[in-house]
Amino acid sequence: MIKAVRGTRDLLPPDTGLWNFVEQKVREVFARYNFQEIRTPVFESTELFARGVGEETDIVSKEMFTWEDKARAASEKTLSLTLRPENTAGVVRAYIEHNLEKTGLLQKLYYIGPQFRRERPQKGRYRQFYQIGAEVLGPATAGSELPIRDAEVVEMLTALLDAVGLKGWTLYLNSVGCPQCRPAYNEALRVALADVKDKMCGDCQRRAETNPLRVLDCKVPEDQPYIEALPKIADYLDEGCRQHFSEVRAILDTLAVPYTVNPRMVRGLDYYSRTTFEFTHGELGAQSAVLGGGRYDGLSEQLGGPQAPGIGFAIGEDRLVLALQAQQAVAVSPLKAFVAPLGAGTNRHALKLARELRAAGVAVDVGDESFRLKKSFETAEKLGAAYVVLVGENEIASDAFAVKELKSGQQTTVARGALAEFLGR
Ligand code: AMP
Repeated sequence: MIKAVRGTRDLLPPDTGLWNFVEQKVREVFARYNFQEIRTPVFESTELFARGVGEETDIVSKEMFTWEDKARAASEKTLSLTLRPENTAGVVRAYIEHNLEKTGLLQKLYYIGPQFRRERPQKGRYRQFYQIGAEVLGPATAGSELPIRDAEVVEMLTALLDAVGLKGWTLYLNSVGCPQCRPAYNEALRVALADVKDKMCGDCQRRAETNPLRVLDCKVPEDQPYIEALPKIADYLDEGCRQHFSEVRAILDTLAVPYTVNPRMVRGLDYYSRTTFEFTHGELGAQSAVLGGGRYDGLSEQLGGPQAPGIGFAIGEDRLVLALQAQQAVAVSPLKAFVAPLGAGTNRHALKLARELRAAGVAVDVGDESFRLKKSFETAEKLGAAYVVLVGENEIASDAFAVKELKSGQQTTVARGALAEFLGR
């Protein structure tokens, strides 16, 4: 038997109903906040992620699905391609490629789609997973650097989670400084790590030299006491970063958005500057982060584009759905009625009635005339239909149909013209 590849999975009904519910709700919220959808390719040149996400991150150093795309003709080059491990780099590439800065406006873009990372699979962690994300970026003259943008994005997230019905999340907030003040912090980390790194894991030993900030991402339990004792970034922020962060917090306070400052939260991607944040949920166990994001003021320039400060986030849709399921927020079956032909020659009448009801916007399913009454009712029950509509000889002759509500067992006769409205109530 051929099975789905390790770390990938099939999403089946009825779960897909909940996935669609989530996507529909978030699209509504995005529209209210004036975000529009962007769709970028699922694979890009490897260089985009190496330069955008950062060579020393876990993602780029060990989790990417990368392959050589061999030249087919002399005019083509052999390319190194990678399945996107995240979508911000792709969005910023598209922003640069299509000169979106020419509008002079903030670009407010959202995406929904699969991402790929070769991580060790477990509950809430997959090799193909789905993200719902958004980015706000644009020229500084459009205000893209200002704390109000950070606060608006974070506040929108509370509205997104509200709209899908997620309760009990925690918001962690931090500032990771900027290229002006981070070197001093990196140096302080390097000095502090020099004494302890020999007792830490191999990744930490290497990163202590190459990119000490990434040591803070380390999940190895034995390393945690050393990491807790390292210098805190808050003590190294320069005046600009300090003020920016305090303004973000002040706006969130005014909006009554609750958060906790977590000085260790530096997020696993190199492009972040200043604000970073994460929402966690208790129902998710070890993989507790439902979403993460932050500001990436230098990313566009790093990718060869114009100055385009920005901020964004990605919700892990798989985890959001898991958390909703843990809350028992299972989407109700949208099936209104099961249309049951009764007796020889009734199929076409049943299908005609179903066609009318469906055209009127009512979700119905149809049996066939070989079903006995009992089988029709059993099938309707299994499908989760609210009603059974019987299409027998008498009904056809009188153009009025026996309708039985499954829950109450109550039966009514409803004229053809009134049926869609009756079922839709
Ligand atoms: P990141 O792009 O690493 O900032 O991740 C943003 C969010 O995507 C995380 O908070 C998770 O909810 C989700 N996520 C990241 N990696 C995975 C994965 N391998 N499987 C499922 N969800 C993931």
